[in-house]
Amino acid sequence: MDTVRAKKHLGQHFLKDLGIARRIAETLGDTPQNVLEIGPGMGVLTQFLLANPNYNLRVIEIDTESVEYLGRNFPALEGRILSADFLQCDLEELFDGSFSLIGNYPYNISNQILFRVFENRNRIPLVAGMFQKEVAERIAAKPGSKTYGILSVLLSAFYDIEYLFTVDEHVFNPPPKVKSAVIRLRRNATPTLPCDEALFVKVVKTGFNQRRKTMRNALKPLGLPLDGIPEKLLMARAEQLSVEDFVQITNILQNSNNN
Ligand code: SAH
Repeated sequence: MDTVRAKKHLGQHFLKDLGIARRIAETLGDTPQNVLEIGPGMGVLTQFLLANPNYNLRVIEIDTESVEYLGRNFPALEGRILSADFLQCDLEELFDGSFSLIGNYPYNISNQILFRVFENRNRIPLVAGMFQKEVAERIAAKPGSKTYGILSVLLSAFYDIEYLFTVDEHVFNPPPKVKSAVIRLRRNATPTLPCDEALFVKVVKTGFNQRRKTMRNALKPLGLPLDGIPEKLLMARAEQLSVEDFVQITNILQNSNNN
């Protein structure tokens, strides 16, 4: 039988359930759009994406065995398959203009994929697909929850995030050790943050680096004076702060740094 041997180091867990594959594909909606699928594997999701005439589809797959399989089994993909690493590829060469991102993503590089989304947020208006449940929950978490972290803040600054549904491990071959979940991120109307964005990212990362400490202690490694930051924010831990709180801290640090 024509198949691809699952390789653990590439995070390969092939989805068996066609109903779930269809539901994931449908999360992109019907507006005409460029679509990039990461890690098509044996094409379970790809077949539904190809069937939608509103999508201009390209797929990127790192595994040459999967690329060859797709070439043999999906003639409609001709000229649309990139045999490459999503983390290394040049996104500007993929499409003229913006594109949606979809996949049953390789879980071993979920965070790196999502950081790449953050960096390319003005080119990626919509992201949908499956991550391991814990990552999906973290992305969708709100301030005050234990799972709220760096990516929750960075992504929610620019995207509206929905946790759509949970997926059981038994619908994959081989089954992963964890449950999965499908989420959707839609670019919000914020063009840029009202602060220095590079410093904002640094403040968020530093704040969560020692997430059990108060911001007063967690931010010490920045080596910047914390004068002027409201006591309420300094006494809080990063996981309690909203995007707006981080923006406020960033602006105060920026100003004291310039004086
Ligand atoms: N979408 C398929 C496969 C999911 S497994 C399905 O649902 O069955 C994850 C897929 O991502 C695998 O095919 C794996 O080879 C691919 N992959 C892993 N790392 C990648 C990377 N850096 N760039 C592109 N594809 C990658």
